[in-house]
Amino acid sequence: MFVIGLVVASLALLIFSLYILQAKYRSLRSQQKFLAQLCTQLEQQKVERQALDIGIVPQAFAPLYHTLNELLKALPASVGKDKLTGLVNRVGLKRTLTGMMPLTQGTLVLIDIYRFRYVNDLFGFVFGDILLKQFAERLNSLSLSPRLIARLNGDEFCLYYEQALTEEQLVHLRGRLQVPFNIKNTPVSVKLQIGCLHLQEHHADTSQMLRRVDLALKKARHSRSAIAYYAQNDDIRQLRELKIIDSLPKGLQRNQVYMVYQAKQDIATGRCFQVEALMRWEHDELGIISPGEFIPLAEYAGMIDLVSQWALDQVLAQQAKWRAAGIQLCVAVNLSTRDLDSETLPQEIAARLAYYQLPPESLMIEITESTLMADLTKAVETLGKIRALGVRLAIDDFGTGHSSLAYLKHLPVNEVKIDKAFLKDLEQDKPSEYILEASINIAKKLGYEVTVEGIETLEIRDRLVAMGVDTIQGMYYAKPMSAAELEMNWAQLHNTI
Ligand code: C2E
Ligand code: MG
Ligand code: MG
Repeated sequence: MFVIGLVVASLALLIFSLYILQAKYRSLRSQQKFLAQLCTQLEQQKVERQALDIGIVPQAFAPLYHTLNELLKALPASVGKDKLTGLVNRVGLKRTLTGMMPLTQGTLVLIDIYRFRYVNDLFGFVFGDILLKQFAERLNSLSLSPRLIARLNGDEFCLYYEQALTEEQLVHLRGRLQVPFNIKNTPVSVKLQIGCLHLQEHHADTSQMLRRVDLALKKARHSRSAIAYYAQNDDIRQLRELKIIDSLPKGLQRNQVYMVYQAKQDIATGRCFQVEALMRWEHDELGIISPGEFIPLAEYAGMIDLVSQWALDQVLAQQAKWRAAGIQLCVAVNLSTRDLDSETLPQEIAARLAYYQLPPESLMIEITESTLMADLTKAVETLGKIRALGVRLAIDDFGTGHSSLAYLKHLPVNEVKIDKAFLKDLEQDKPSEYILEASINIAKKLGYEVTVEGIETLEIRDRLVAMGVDTIQGMYYAKPMSAAELEMNWAQLHNTI
């Protein structure tokens, strides 16, 4: 019974496959999609085909099997090529590389045309297609010629070299490919980002190789660097990152994420009037994850608004409790520069302040300098609206970006927080001290209050006080603590002179 069932099922599947195959083969709109479907079908039929091979199925079915095989053999000529450029496509590349396995040396290079979308948006698809064709021609005429050239999708091209390319060769390759194009008398400049995988070990399969070179390209995109390389633990890191992104909403809902508060000391009075809220996450599987790790991932995954809304709610709810208990302070919340893209952010802040019946000056927003400078115009507009509510603003981690203090004068902020990195060389390095002192002076002359963060010793604190700093923050004065701990220490923090 079982064998008959198997035979009938095999026959039905074969006839069905043949029918689909012929129909699709005739009206092949997307060859790539077709091959992918075909592979899936064949995979599903593995058991049945084994049954055919061991002769369970009568001879009468053999012609069907034969026809199917013939059709499969005929496919490679048409499938695996990119119509636009004539290069091989992902399917073709994978198949050729698979035929060359095991590959234990050579270089896989993945090239992405940065912001190619803009070419299409600005000049239209026909123009974009011409650029892609010319780019493919250029790849074909490289003096450092690859063994394989493929267009994987859109603006991504993959090269396989049999030799290990040096960094110098990659830089040269990029330079050669970036020479401006001339399309319909219009000069077109392209910027390329490159991911690189050196094939030193045995790779399990071509999918793994392509995934790894893709990871290298992602690294280049994230770090905004021209060329990035796959490194051994990148896969593991990526798995961790995926896990973090995936579990973030749950972490927020289930109170695995919580706030701690770090007191700042006002130098003139020696007292604490302000605390900074810092996020912590105790992940059930990964343990403690620092905001330095999960905040950039939340930004990358487009989930930062979720995090920031949560942070504002937590902090303002806590603020309302403290006010009711007679603890009067200003709480600083870190927001991401991405949050400033939201036109509704100022209204949302105003609505929350009203809901918790809090005065606007009881809230401070800290925005990191380096990311702020990337899209200043939009940010200045939103910051202006938040400032107009009466909420205080600070530029965080000042000195880690590339802005000058003169540039800062356009920003509607109250405070500049100088990054702890400035303190690192202070002990041995005189020039660092002069730069720090000059920065503090200029910031103060421009009318900003100046905080320096990351102060760990009395000696550094005293030197900064001598330089005219208004407020200090760091382990020397107070470590980040829970709301309950802060309440316990409040009398001491608020009253010490
Ligand atoms: P940040 O805003 O510059 O926060 C200061 C960082 O310095 C905190 O790290 C704090 O724990 C650490 N720190 C404080 N005192 C000392 C000290 O004396 N020595 C040293 N070496 N470090 C000290 P943390 O808590 O790991 O936060 C890292 C960054 O993550 C923050 O830098 C901030 O940019 C971001 N972050 C934290 N919480 C949030 C949040 O709720 N939202 C957003 N968007 N970002 C957050
Ligand atoms: Mg901060
Ligand atoms: Mg900081």
